[in-house]
Amino acid sequence: MDQYVLVLNCGSSSIKFAIIEAKTGTAPLHGLAENLCTASSRLVFSYQHKEHDVKLPVNTDHQQALVVIAKKLKQFKHLSQKIVAVGHRVVHGGETFTHSSLINDQVKQAIQQTSLMAPLHNPANLAGINSAQTSYPHLPHVAVFDTAFFQTMPKHAYLYALPYELYQQHNIRRYGFHGTSHYFVAHEAANALKKELSACNLITAHLGNGCSIAAVRKGKAIDTSLGFTPLEGLVMGTRCGDIDPSLPTYLIEQLGYSVSEVSELLNKKSGLLGISELSNDCRIIEQQANDGNQQAQLALDMFIYRLVKYIGAYIAVVGPLDALVFTGGIGENSAYVRENTINQLTHLGLQLDPDKNLQMRFGQSGLISHTHSKPIFAIATNEEWVIAKDTIKYAQ
Ligand code: AMP
Repeated sequence: MDQYVLVLNCGSSSIKFAIIEAKTGTAPLHGLAENLCTASSRLVFSYQHKEHDVKLPVNTDHQQALVVIAKKLKQFKHLSQKIVAVGHRVVHGGETFTHSSLINDQVKQAIQQTSLMAPLHNPANLAGINSAQTSYPHLPHVAVFDTAFFQTMPKHAYLYALPYELYQQHNIRRYGFHGTSHYFVAHEAANALKKELSACNLITAHLGNGCSIAAVRKGKAIDTSLGFTPLEGLVMGTRCGDIDPSLPTYLIEQLGYSVSEVSELLNKKSGLLGISELSNDCRIIEQQANDGNQQAQLALDMFIYRLVKYIGAYIAVVGPLDALVFTGGIGENSAYVRENTINQLTHLGLQLDPDKNLQMRFGQSGLISHTHSKPIFAIATNEEWVIAKDTIKYAQ
């Protein structure tokens, strides 16, 4: 019998949900409750390509939204009857979770303890788990962690060169995020190469509004660009990525910024948005750059330059490279970003097939490299499917 999993991704003001068939990854129903706890809370979902738009009462919270979602899902009886488990995306698993976990009180307590390191995400994830357990008390609930894939990194890669006691006493280290996406595309690339993942050396670049890159040696993550929080590394939509660590102190001591203003600046006002002074949306920036806007062009140049540097660094550490993979909204869709990145890496054995690159569009996956090149793929990520498969695996 088909086994369906309800996959939930609870953010601070939204709940993304999907019913996924675990074997094939198909999603007959998926939706979003957004603007929770505001006057414009609403629920939209699509079932068999038909869109539904439900206005929620003012200030609907996570608990109330999940009750409405569960009620709506029950209306599609033949589908909801087949849900055998609920899978929860949890952003931070700290060092406790090296893989997904069946949720019990102990697991919830550990997620709670990790909240200090992910104050915007883990409490929302936990609230979602509690609400969903109330709505689906008889189903097993499984937590799938964004950080788990990176728990294989060696100590010399995950530690910062800070006093060691900060790691021992306060868990300060690199954790990495987007692990579910990196794992999925690494697995797909291995399949396309007709090799076991454990035999592949890969570099996977997840380029969306948030961006990260991972070095995967023999199927295991050995390094990644996001760090203690999802702020380090590549240039992102609104996040700065790597900067001189002294800059926050300078902003506070010399320019009079408050601590929260610095945090807002680095997380929400930087990246593509900060440089272009236009938008965090790569489509808009590409369009404006094409129309001659120089700051839009500069934002793209910086985005690509940082990416090229990371790919070069990871080629150095990953061992003989089997493939480079692009994924995420930008990685899957932007022929421009892929072309201008790879054109700076030809001396390292990477070369695109320009036609294949141009033709690769949203939702598609495939090889985009020249026959003389090491393989380069664009792969549509599917984190929900990984969550669904892990949920079935750990639900027993
Ligand atoms: P994600 O966070 O993975 O949903 O990705 C969001 C990012 O993908 C945004 O910056 C979008 O502008 C970008 N994106 C989506 N479609 C395209 C496209 N056709 N060309 C360039 N960027 C795109």
